Amino acid sequence: MFLVQRDGWIAATAQAWKMYVFDIVMLGGLVCSVGVTYSFGYRNPVPWKALAWVCGLLVTSIGGLIWLSTSLRCGACKRAVGWHVVSTASANAWVRTLETMMKCPCCGDRPGEITRN
Ligand SMILES: [Zn+2]
Repeated sequence: MFLVQRDGWIAATAQAWKMYVFDIVMLGGLVCSVGVTYSFGYRNPVPWKALAWVCGLLVTSIGGLIWLSTSLRCGACKRAVGWHVVSTASANAWVRTLETMMKCPCCGDRPGEITRN
């Protein structure tokens, strides 16, 4: 779950709603993972139900990552900031990096501030 920092770059660029969409998709993934667990937990599992939950889990997790990687963009350099952070930060740090970054990690831009190159 993302907690968008009020003074962070994501809030400053009015892209917090993209993180909330990602949160909702990940909640769907959580529901699907519970569905997978329960559908395989029955004595006589129904194969198509279990397969449907697995497909739902794959679609939500991969789709959420694609959404985050492509939708979060910098208005100044036009680069995909989400993909930049996901692909460069460590696996256990990219969420925190996105939550707390104060400026674009690609160009250093922050709306409302004059940047010098
Ligand atoms: Zn930028």
